[in-house]
Amino acid sequence: MKSLWDDAEAAAYNTVLGQRVYTSRLLGQDSALVLHGGGNTSVKSVETTLLGDEIETVWVKGSGWDLATITERGFTPLRLDSLRRLAELETLSDLDMARELKLASLNPAAPAPSVEAILHGVLPATFVDHTHADAFVTLSNTPSGEARIRELYGNELVVIPYVMPGFALARLAWRLYREQAHGGTVGLALLNHGLFTFGDSARQSYERMITLVGRAEEYLARQVTLPRPVPRPVPRPCAPALRQEIAALRLDVSRAAGRPMLLMTHQDQDAVTYTQRADLPDLARQGPATPDHVIRTRRLPLIGRDVKTYADAQRAEFAALSPRSVTPLTPLDPAPRVILDPQLGLGVAGVSAAAARIVEDIARHTLAMIQQAAALESWKPRPAADIFDVEYWDLEQAKLRAGSPPAEFSGEVALVTGAASGIGRACVEALLGRGAAVIGLDIQRAVEEVSAAPGYLGVQVDLTDESAVEAALERGVRHFGGLDLLILNAGVFPASRAIADLGTAEWERVLGVNLTANLTLFRLAHPLLKLAPGGGRVVVNASKNVPAPGPGAAAYSASKAALTQLARVAALEWGADGIRVNVLHPNAVFDTGIWTPEVLEKRARSYGLSVEDYRRNNVLKAEVTSRDVAELACTLCSAAFSRTTGVQIPVDGGNERVI
Ligand code: ZN
Repeated sequence: MKSLWDDAEAAAYNTVLGQRVYTSRLLGQDSALVLHGGGNTSVKSVETTLLGDEIETVWVKGSGWDLATITERGFTPLRLDSLRRLAELETLSDLDMARELKLASLNPAAPAPSVEAILHGVLPATFVDHTHADAFVTLSNTPSGEARIRELYGNELVVIPYVMPGFALARLAWRLYREQAHGGTVGLALLNHGLFTFGDSARQSYERMITLVGRAEEYLARQVTLPRPVPRPVPRPCAPALRQEIAALRLDVSRAAGRPMLLMTHQDQDAVTYTQRADLPDLARQGPATPDHVIRTRRLPLIGRDVKTYADAQRAEFAALSPRSVTPLTPLDPAPRVILDPQLGLGVAGVSAAAARIVEDIARHTLAMIQQAAALESWKPRPAADIFDVEYWDLEQAKLRAGSPPAEFSGEVALVTGAASGIGRACVEALLGRGAAVIGLDIQRAVEEVSAAPGYLGVQVDLTDESAVEAALERGVRHFGGLDLLILNAGVFPASRAIADLGTAEWERVLGVNLTANLTLFRLAHPLLKLAPGGGRVVVNASKNVPAPGPGAAAYSASKAALTQLARVAALEWGADGIRVNVLHPNAVFDTGIWTPEVLEKRARSYGLSVEDYRRNNVLKAEVTSRDVAELACTLCSAAFSRTTGVQIPVDGGNERVI
């Protein structure tokens, strides 16, 4: 572990709070120290109020802020005097503590401070840093953890036995600190939890953290020889059975959760090696690295695929442990968040890709820590009751009750063809905006760059190449867990040609893309759509040319008419599977790739119209944009249309020939 302190960079942060921001970010940069909002930091100062009062203040990291990206706004100024008095109370419920901390704030607009605010306040040092460093927690989570910690840190740290974070921890740590701290004390060792360090300067406190964690890392490096990983067979890239198995498992997880969930699977060597260990159940069924991980990962992973038994065990654990709480508790959904399966590797579930990625990061750190602890001695985290107390503490329950409703398509997976530009791209953006994860397919390489959101996967593929399409689908299902929404949008619009001049090759090329490629997708998607937790939905972007064809567009009109007919048959065949299939007929959508300004100009002139009038040449005199089509496609997939299948809806501003 190396200090990232840089004099030149540090000089740019020229206030005390600025220095606090700088080293907080240094801590946050290293995932071996803190993960996703974990850890907290503080600094003390004297602030002068508007009325001229000088107030001893501690600036504590606000909850919800990540150390890696924190700014001055992420710290909440609190009256030290109030915190010192709170620390002397016998008991303080979390909800009372949250209220008292709000009252102690010098800025009502600042975020709610970290639950460790009282501890930060009472410790006398100016700068206080707290992390959940992997190496420290690994050592601590072994049967002889406490002895190892004492041996390693001598009397430099005050060792605090495990206690619930929040007020109980503040009270115990403050008492032990007063009894045991001396001139050489540089921090606290919180067993099964993490490290605190102190300092007169930001640099001193930060570098003490680095030194102490470095010592734990060196200890592990000396004592632990990990077995050399045996290369394991990683599942083949194109196996229909595996694809179905992932989607079926995701359906089980979603049913247990009571809502659609993504299931992101990882078959890399680290994941597969761990999940294929013979002693996996012994290792993985002990508990999380630190209790606060439980909020993201649940206490235990599912080993294998039996979601029902897992959920039953979760319910039984809740029934057994909920009497620990004096107030009635609302059970969390009993679905697993981490799944370890020898074939599927590491699976992580979440209501969004961002949430699932946080679970993945924690799971990967945890599996590395568990294997080190096992090689050293064995993995012995806190027992179930302690983890339960954190999982169900007042503050988390309050968050649950106050939670805003999830986005419309959160936990669902959409596949959009022709996603690199025009209507397809607009569909990707609209679906992401409504919370879906999206797989975008397109023959253009640009499809990979359509969005940088974690919920987007762009795959370049020629839709007329069946095996390539299957491989892309496979990749998408491994990435997000299944398929709920299918938006068939890709198509070619060939140059105008009279039937007398229409060659068979061109006819077949147009039908190949606009019709046959969609048949392939229909066929490959069907078994997956059947497993969609909220019912599969298909939207086909056909064309106004279906109800109202034009001369010179025989191949295009025929292909889109046949595609419409294919969709209608699918609506009939798949209704019993709960899959809805509907068709949009867009017309004159000019903000797409095929409509260059020159083409538009030429077309407008041929109708004797200005470009502006040509764009609005419909009954409503309204321009139709890609966004309009995309929003309607999304709405067709929404609950508003839950009783509708097999319909064709124009999106053309009103067309006299269609009406
Ligand atoms: Zn902590």
